[in-house]
Amino acid sequence: MRKKIVAGNWKMNTTPAEGVELAKGIVALKGEVCPSVSFIVAPPFTHLTEVMNVIKGSGIALAAQNCAAEAKGAYTGEVSARMIASIGAEYVILGHSERREYYGETSETLNKKMVQVFENGLSPIYCVGEKLEEREAGKHFDVVRAQIEEVIFKLTPEQFEKTVIAYEPVWAIGTGKTATADQAQEIHAFIRGVLAEKFGAKAENTAILYGGSAKPSNAAELFAKADVDGGLIGGASRVAADFIAIGKGF
Ligand code: PEP
Repeated sequence: MRKKIVAGNWKMNTTPAEGVELAKGIVALKGEVCPSVSFIVAPPFTHLTEVMNVIKGSGIALAAQNCAAEAKGAYTGEVSARMIASIGAEYVILGHSERREYYGETSETLNKKMVQVFENGLSPIYCVGEKLEEREAGKHFDVVRAQIEEVIFKLTPEQFEKTVIAYEPVWAIGTGKTATADQAQEIHAFIRGVLAEKFGAKAENTAILYGGSAKPSNAAELFAKADVDGGLIGGASRVAADFIAIGKGF
């Protein structure tokens, strides 16, 4: 039985006070959703601790949006996986397209970040996805396969079991343009097949989330697909009622 997950990536939004209010709203509404759905929130680093204090005991898990590739030391401005774990976070989002695009994150960097994540007992939410021109050129399967082979294939089976995958077509992120449920299912099934090439039957247990303009009005159709195990939500995760309504899509 695969986990059903709805994860909210707040990106560089909310002050600590706003984040606390948002988290309180999510906690207050969570009871409306079937308990088999797991919620994760990923606030900015500045308020991981405050948000953790709000969600503690609610069953909602905490994620960071990124972590350093190194363990510690003279890396001004970086935040280590150890620091993140010490707050009580369970997940780190890695490989988001915004980090690949604006901060030049390569598979090599992501391999190092994966090491840090696992050494500190955290689990990665690893994002893959193609750009518009890549989809239009019919290269989306190749792009996603490479993103998986270069990073996920380097994991041990034990590490793989703790990994969540998020398929996020870059052309759908923050654009209001969602992949159709059939497009999502097609590539999610492809991703599971690629994972199975390396990890065999374990791939059946991997949660593969869809991300890209998911919202209450399209969540149910997406989540109804056999290989769509939830969502990584950007914009709609910053309105408590919408985030919770997405969870009701299962
Ligand atoms: C994201 O950036 O992870 C994302 C899915 O954003 P949005 O839902 O706003 O498209």
